Amino acid sequence: MNAPAPLLSVRGLKKYFPIKGGIFSREIDRVHAVDGVSFDIAEGETLGLVGESGCGKSTTGRCVMRLIEPSEGEIWFQNRNVTVLDGEELRAIRRDIQIIFQDPFASLNPRHTVAGIVGEALLIHRLAKTRRDVEDRVVELLETVGLQAGHLRRFPHEFSGGQRQRIGIARALAVKPKLIVCDEPVSALDVSVQAQVINLLEDLQEKFGLTYLFIAHDLSVVEHISNRVAVMYLGRIVEIARARDLYDNPRHPYTEALLSAVPIPDPSLKRTRIKLEGDVPNPINPPTGCHFHTRCPIAEPRCSETAPPLKQGADGHWVACHLRG
Ligand code: SF4
Repeated sequence: MNAPAPLLSVRGLKKYFPIKGGIFSREIDRVHAVDGVSFDIAEGETLGLVGESGCGKSTTGRCVMRLIEPSEGEIWFQNRNVTVLDGEELRAIRRDIQIIFQDPFASLNPRHTVAGIVGEALLIHRLAKTRRDVEDRVVELLETVGLQAGHLRRFPHEFSGGQRQRIGIARALAVKPKLIVCDEPVSALDVSVQAQVINLLEDLQEKFGLTYLFIAHDLSVVEHISNRVAVMYLGRIVEIARARDLYDNPRHPYTEALLSAVPIPDPSLKRTRIKLEGDVPNPINPPTGCHFHTRCPIAEPRCSETAPPLKQGADGHWVACHLRG
C-alpha cells in the first residue's frame, strides 16, 4: 500500500531579498535567506525547524503560507500548489494554514479587545453570522486555550506574556486550521511558562488533529513536541531525522555543535561542548560549497568547492555532508 500523501510538501524553496542602491535604486545584491529547502510534513505530525537566528527558518515558515512570496520552488498543501494560487483559493489556504508569532504582544492589536482580535478571523472567513455567534465562539476558544469568558472585553496589555500567547493561539484556532506554523512561539516567554504553552499546543494537536511546523532556535525546545526535526544553517537544511534519532545520533557537525550546548538534566552525565569558531557568515555572500565549511571542525578542501546534497543515510535520517552519511 502506498504511504499517504504528506499534508505539506516544500520543494526547492528559495527566497532572496533584493538589496537596492544607487540613484536608480537598482538591485545591487541579494540576501540568500532560504537557499533550496525541501521537506514534507505528514498529517498530525510536528516537524521542528531549528537553527540560529538569520538561518532562514522564519522566512521558510512565512513562505509556506505566502505571507512572503517565494523566489523559487513549490509548496504543495493537500495536493494544491500554494505558490500559484490567488484570490479565493489563496484565501482558503490562509484559513487552513495559520501562524502563531514569537512576540504575542507585537502580534496583537493593542487597540482591540480580545473579542475583536479573536473574532476578526471568524468575520473575515464568514464563520459566524451575528455578533452573538462571534462572541459565543470566542468564549469557547478562550476556554479551549485556558482563558475565561471574563477576558473577552480586556485589551492585550492587561495580560501576561503567556496569556497573550494563548490569545494568539485562540486566534489561530478560530478558523479551524489544519496546519499551524508556530514561529518561535515560546522564545519570548519565561522557562516555566514555555512548558505550559508547549503542553497546551500538544493537547490541542491531539484534540483537533493539528499538524505543526514548529520553529525554534533552540534544540531543547523542540525535543519533546517534535516527531521529526530539521536543522537549518544559512538558508539550507543540513539534517532531518526522527527527533529521538537526531538527539541520540546526530550526524551533521553543525547539529553536533548545537546539541553539545543543550544542558543535560542528569548532572552525572557530561557532554563536551563543541565551540564553533567565528560567526554565521553573511547571507548576502554565503560561503561556496558547503555553507558550513568556514566553521566546520572537520572540513576538507572539497567542502569549499562542492555543496553536499541532502542524502538519506540510515532509515529516514537525511544529512548534507561529504563526510557523514
Ligand atoms: Fe563539514 Fe565538509 Fe561536512 Fe560541510 S561537507 S559539514 S564542511 S565536513
